[in-house]
Amino acid sequence: MKVLVINCGSSSLKYQFMDTDDQIVLAKGLIERIGMSGAILTHKRSDGDTVRIVGEILDHTLAIQYVLGVLLSKNHGVIQDRKEIDAVGHRVAHGGETFSSSVLLTNEVMQAIEDNVELAPLHNPANIKGILAVKNILPDVPQCCVFDTAFHVKMPAKAFLYGIPYELYKRYKIRRYGFHGTSHLFVSKKAAEILGQAPEELKIITLHLGNGCSMTAVDGGKSVDTTMGFTPLEGLLMGTRTGDIDPSVVLYIMGKEGLSLSEITTLLNKHSGLAGVSGESSDMREIVEAVKNNHVRAKYAFDMFCYRAKKYIGSYAAAMGGVDAIVFTGGIGENSSDVREEICKGLEFLGIELDEEKNSKRETDLSKSGSRVKILRIPTNEELVIALDTARIVSESK
Ligand code: AMP
Repeated sequence: MKVLVINCGSSSLKYQFMDTDDQIVLAKGLIERIGMSGAILTHKRSDGDTVRIVGEILDHTLAIQYVLGVLLSKNHGVIQDRKEIDAVGHRVAHGGETFSSSVLLTNEVMQAIEDNVELAPLHNPANIKGILAVKNILPDVPQCCVFDTAFHVKMPAKAFLYGIPYELYKRYKIRRYGFHGTSHLFVSKKAAEILGQAPEELKIITLHLGNGCSMTAVDGGKSVDTTMGFTPLEGLLMGTRTGDIDPSVVLYIMGKEGLSLSEITTLLNKHSGLAGVSGESSDMREIVEAVKNNHVRAKYAFDMFCYRAKKYIGSYAAAMGGVDAIVFTGGIGENSSDVREEICKGLEFLGIELDEEKNSKRETDLSKSGSRVKILRIPTNEELVIALDTARIVSESK
């Protein structure tokens, strides 16, 4: 089946056009600056042919039209007829408590996504725009929704409840949801495959370390705890986000600096984390470089980043009563041997023993031969999960 995978942001749209039978990407691309002057579409075909188109792309419907245009284009396209698109799969940020797996788009599903807008005011509206745009332009093509929260929705109550009055959970759905679910699910399954065991037999800790960072305790193939919470702000230190923080600090800063709700939200989400602590950069590559040049604040940021991940490994090993494997993924997790080394250092007592040579050579299995816990480096592939889920659901619905 040929599936168009779409990931809509408020002013961007990422897409991949995949053949799910062979699991190959036929073409992929990105539109930036939707609704602004000088929007840019970058389109890349699997044979390497790349094209950049600059235009006025005023909304997501026009963006989808551009994507169709380039997929059909004589010089840069991969299909001759729009009928060759069998289905569309959307990444949807927040499924609330409604969705614990991917679903076919129906009117009820659309309503539920709209009902969850309050939980993800920045992301779900963009996803809705993408879905409506496809509905407009390709009305007969079935669409599926794959939720970032779905993998975590069935965590036990002791892991998802906050220590606030229970009525507030019931009234406003304030609970821990977790994000990056598609990635954690993908790499934990892949880890089981690599280890030649069933996911049901394994206790795995997955570390998705990218611009956003989260970790998940995957026990028997299920997410039993994860570091992100009500929003993607909780948990690990990230590029520009604080991660865990005493809520009193937030109130204190607001009082001292006279910040409004939106100003403190920006401070916690956009000016904190690696960027805020180091004063240098939100990019781990630049942090690592600065550490090598003895930049003191960059060293604080690097150490905090790794220390917090290390603490969560200990905490999730305790939560699951053991750990068989830890998995590194995401831009930092896949690429930074320095970060992996620092996180694993001192965890030998848990049976986590990193092989320095394999780590620097970026192999898949990074553990020493006698290490009780396997340490794996697995590139994530959320688009593949979305495409395969979409193909399965659409086939089953026929
Ligand atoms: P992602 O959000 O998964 O695309 O990850 C993006 C982040 O990965 C960037 O902000 C970089 O900090 C980080 N990254 C990519 N390559 C490297 C590398 N070689 N070393 C350290 N960090 C890297």
